[in-house]
Amino acid sequence: MNLGRFPRISLAHLPTPLEPMDRLSDFLGGPRLWIKRDDCTGLATGGNKTRKLEYLLADAMEQGADTIITTGATQSNHARQTAAASARLGLPCHIVLEEPAFEPSESYRTNGNILLDRMFDAIIAPRPNGSDMDAEMETLAEQLRGEGATPYVIPGGGSSPVGALGYVGAALELVYQASEIGLAIDHAVHATGSAGTQAGFVAGLEAVNAGIPVRGFCVGRPSAEQDAMVIELAERTCSHLGLPGLVKPSHIETDDRFIGEGYGFPTPGMIEAVTLLARTEAILLDPVYSGKAMAGLISMVRDGAFRAEDNVVFLHTGGVAGLFGYPDAFSSAD
Ligand SMILES: *Cc1c(COP(=O)(O)O)cnc(C)c1O
Repeated sequence: MNLGRFPRISLAHLPTPLEPMDRLSDFLGGPRLWIKRDDCTGLATGGNKTRKLEYLLADAMEQGADTIITTGATQSNHARQTAAASARLGLPCHIVLEEPAFEPSESYRTNGNILLDRMFDAIIAPRPNGSDMDAEMETLAEQLRGEGATPYVIPGGGSSPVGALGYVGAALELVYQASEIGLAIDHAVHATGSAGTQAGFVAGLEAVNAGIPVRGFCVGRPSAEQDAMVIELAERTCSHLGLPGLVKPSHIETDDRFIGEGYGFPTPGMIEAVTLLARTEAILLDPVYSGKAMAGLISMVRDGAFRAEDNVVFLHTGGVAGLFGYPDAFSSAD
């Protein structure tokens, strides 16, 4: 596999650190926990979408695009990183944002990611909850074409075979870092939403035969649906890489036990995880993705899912800006 043959624009601070979380490991009394700091990709408070955007925006430039369109929730980390990357490249960026399924607080509507979107001069188009966001983006693209623009539409979460290449690269980076310090990784876990992170990450791990099982903690969809999405995208990513059939359905594992009421709804486990990571490791998680994934990891440790000598890596996918959209969830944390 030669990742270097795919066009890429440098946007991220790489490699991101791989660090032990000894105070958290001691507190939980479980296996040795590690963290891969993709919250430190650098662009506009960081996060996992930056790795995907390196490939997506290179593809946009190759196709002669002069305008970017993408979609997400009001507090979308993906929309924020896309707005930032577009600003860096001097491209206008339209973000079509789906309003939440809950009554949003003032902070949710104006702070966190949406504040940063405005900072990067993104053109914000809100849509009611439940809208067909792909259709909304296509309508907007059509309108912009009519005005003479050449828009490039990035799917929600940047999850396409091109975007997933970013996480193929992240897997190779992690395997290399681990070998440099003589670390044998037994398990890896992370949050899974639009599926590109898990699809690319598993494809990259399989490409080097790393033998590291990955669990994706769902943030919205039930496991069966999420599995199908990840498998489908992993298969298309492998074909794009020239390695068709590399990822098998048996390589994809997701866990939907920590979603709570639904996408973006706070849960007690998330609040515990976010505050515990802050107080033991001074690491900031986010309320929608990494906080729920960490709640899942903590629960697995407590359930004895790992051996004491295991090395478990938590892939921190970022989202810290989202914390500022949810101050009320933490107002009673003590
Ligand atoms: C988008 C996102 C994820 C999920 O990644 P996908 O590639 O969409 O599955 C996880 N964590 C954070 C913070 C995100 O913004």
